[in-house]
Amino acid sequence: MKYDVVVVGSGPAGCVTARFASELGAKVLIIERRQEIGVPVLCGEGVSRRIDNWGMLEGKRWIASNMEGARIYSPDKTMVKLSADLAGNETGYVIYRDIFDQELARQATKAGVKIMLNTNAINLLKHNNKISGVKVKQFDDEFEIEADIVVGADGVESKIGQWSGINTRLDPKDLETCCQYTLTNIDCKDAYCDFYLGKKIAPGGYVWVFPKGKDVANVGIGVLANLSEAGMPKKLLDNFIANDPRLKNGNPIRFLAGAVPVAKPVETVRDNLLLVGDAARQVDPITGGGLTHCLEGGKIAGETIGMAVEKQQFDQETLSVYEKGWKEAFGKKLKRNYMVKEIVLGFEDKTLNMLADSLKDFKFEEISTLALVKALVLKHPTLLMKLRPLMKISSEV
Ligand SMILES: Cc1cc2nc3c(=O)[nH]c(=O)nc-3n(C[C@H](O)[C@H](O)[C@H](O)COP(=O)(O)OP(=O)(O)OC[C@H]3O[C@@H](n4cnc5c(N)ncnc54)[C@H](O)[C@@H]3O)c2cc1C
Repeated sequence: MKYDVVVVGSGPAGCVTARFASELGAKVLIIERRQEIGVPVLCGEGVSRRIDNWGMLEGKRWIASNMEGARIYSPDKTMVKLSADLAGNETGYVIYRDIFDQELARQATKAGVKIMLNTNAINLLKHNNKISGVKVKQFDDEFEIEADIVVGADGVESKIGQWSGINTRLDPKDLETCCQYTLTNIDCKDAYCDFYLGKKIAPGGYVWVFPKGKDVANVGIGVLANLSEAGMPKKLLDNFIANDPRLKNGNPIRFLAGAVPVAKPVETVRDNLLLVGDAARQVDPITGGGLTHCLEGGKIAGETIGMAVEKQQFDQETLSVYEKGWKEAFGKKLKRNYMVKEIVLGFEDKTLNMLADSLKDFKFEEISTLALVKALVLKHPTLLMKLRPLMKISSEV
């Protein structure tokens, strides 16, 4: 079996990469170890409306609900409201992630991509020390698939990067351990994605409530792995739900557990290989949102591959057009947000309360960042010291 490109993983990053490479004439195969694309869902399903910018999703079947914005609650429950435009990666739509992934896969196959389900990559194939495809296992059969380029789109647990010698190891302080219920019979009439912060609520993370309808929502939690212990995220989430009047009578129709990398991105190209999406750690380290980057980065990856196949050049230098491209598109933001994450993690709950108290009445759309900082510090002067490192980052990056 010989292809120009074999993509390991049929998530959004893999399907978008495959689609754009195929549209430019490459012969592309996606292999996926699951038996159904997008299932089981491992996602809060919140996404920014920027997802529309790339025009990659036809129709609206993948949208469960439209959000007006986000409400962020400090530990003492002071609320700061942000419009969807300002709220970042996870607010705009709440989606049906299974339909979303399957729609991206449909678009890929329409462009000529082949998909092989129930097929697990078990190692890289090498010829004269050069990556030349993947070894796979499909049920009891093991076989080889040759390709000029291997794409590691194999998510948070990525092995492809590691097998190629890229250091993709995740430090526990850079990994959110998550779980989530989809709850019905609850009250979530307001079209807002809610985020709850606090060391007792979710150490190093947050609780989210993302409405999928008037009485159904994804209610989840992320806890930083170095601050967590076995069973802790579920215990904290159950406790949160039991004490929230809107949620406490809810019934779960789905439970999931998963992990999100909130790390610095890794190197993403080698000779004959590139990494995209969670495998490349292209996740916003503050929110844990990765979907917009899968689409944006996947398109750049696919276009780079198309160019490489046309030239028949598969070396690291040729493929580094992709690394340069995604770094220009959103690399700076990831770098800055990683530094912000590190600083905010050091904030005590009372600092978060002060911040929320200073920000609660702002109309963010109408005020400059400088005016915001000034007003903030006037209300709680002690915040100045705490916020100085954040101001330094925004002036540098
Ligand atoms: C609990 C949770 C909540 C989240 N909430 C949000 C959110 O609200 N908004 C948001 O933007 N992001 C969210 N994320 C992050 C988001 O889900 C990821 O950024 C996104 O799924 C990354 O897509 P991907 O294509 O890189 O990887 P994935 O979607 O993980 O796809 C990887 C695919 O590779 C396959 N695979 C892995 N190894 C192999 C192998 N060896 N052989 C063959 N196939 C393989 C897997 O089966 C999988 O299908 C959340 C993540 C979690 C865990």
